[in-house]
Amino acid sequence: KTPASGLPAVSGETWPTTPSPDAVLNLDVGDPTMYEAYWKGAGDRCSLVISGSELMSYISNPGSTCWFLEPELDKSIRRIHDLVGNAVAEDGRHIVVGTGSTQLLQAALYALCPPGLPKPTSVVCAAPYYSCYQEVTELLQSNLYKWEGDAHNFDKDGPFVEIVTSPNNPDGLVREAVVNCPNGKLVHDLAYYWPHYTPITRQADYDIMLFTFSKCSGHAGSRIGWAIVKDKEVAVKMTKFMEVTTIGVSKESQLRAAKILGTICDDCQAFNANTKSESFFDHAKRLMTERWDKLHEVIKRSEIFSLAKFPRDYCLFSAEFFETHPAFAWLKCNNKVKDSEGLLRGHKILTRSGNRFGADRTYVRVSMLSGEEVFNLFLERLSTIKIGIGNGN
Ligand code: PMP
Repeated sequence: KTPASGLPAVSGETWPTTPSPDAVLNLDVGDPTMYEAYWKGAGDRCSLVISGSELMSYISNPGSTCWFLEPELDKSIRRIHDLVGNAVAEDGRHIVVGTGSTQLLQAALYALCPPGLPKPTSVVCAAPYYSCYQEVTELLQSNLYKWEGDAHNFDKDGPFVEIVTSPNNPDGLVREAVVNCPNGKLVHDLAYYWPHYTPITRQADYDIMLFTFSKCSGHAGSRIGWAIVKDKEVAVKMTKFMEVTTIGVSKESQLRAAKILGTICDDCQAFNANTKSESFFDHAKRLMTERWDKLHEVIKRSEIFSLAKFPRDYCLFSAEFFETHPAFAWLKCNNKVKDSEGLLRGHKILTRSGNRFGADRTYVRVSMLSGEEVFNLFLERLSTIKIGIGNGN
């Protein structure tokens, strides 16, 4: 059985990199192993050597709002946003680093939901919402905040936080806030606002923007995320949360992220100057496009599954029109299927049911970020699934 996180109970148990033809395919978690081949090709350009005497102190930059943020990572983050044009990260904005953006979401809730109110601050997100928001908000049964589910149904008068995910996990759509009320504070989760997933149509400039190394370059194992924060007081409170929970973030991970983000930038700039090799974003976008084309082909012939169409837009970064190719497929089964996740599980494909995202069980979320062989096996199996008489599932 796969635990709630979707991660395997025993390492390797449902996690093959070269799967046998009848292996269980875990497409529940968005584990970005599809990018490994690209980084193998980068050879030693991203290697780091760290001696035993380096990086020993807790402290990175005592003068900065986020005192445990390595200056090199700060520089690389601002550089990549400036280059891609997806978010305003100029000098006046505060950067807070976290152990993944999952920890930063918790830091943001802590910063935005003051103690001492008559009731906990409501936390909402438009359905279908990323399933972890509910898990994170409910885990500690905090008195500071309370999960209130779908933002479309929210009609309370009190203070609230709305999380806006754009492009959205699970359905890939570009979104804006939906609650129209002045008592609210917004957290924008822009994990997928990168040019391999979606056209970059403008420079985002929100109060709190969350990004993650996991989905930008595929290095989920480094557990690096960052928040770009306008208000210094909020950044200080978020930093306080990190200080109390983990006294900062691994410097080894930060330096690795700094190096890799820097390499992506160097390559984009070099490749723009007419070299033949592909930059990371070009490579990842080509792979995502190929995968989505293949998936659409299979879905076209399916009597059970369907997919929504994504709009095309002009990308200011790549200077071309293209369709969003999200990190997840949000598959809908026809009405004869009561439990899409169960149907796929019967074919040894692990996915995440729509009900975890505030939607119904005819939907499932399927990761598009697996290794190549797992993805191809998934398509093979998907194309053979039929609903037999009497197995209305
Ligand atoms: N936000 C969204 C929308 C995500 O999909 C994910 C990862 N699945 C995260 C945040 C968390 O990323 P991290 O690995 O940085 O904790």
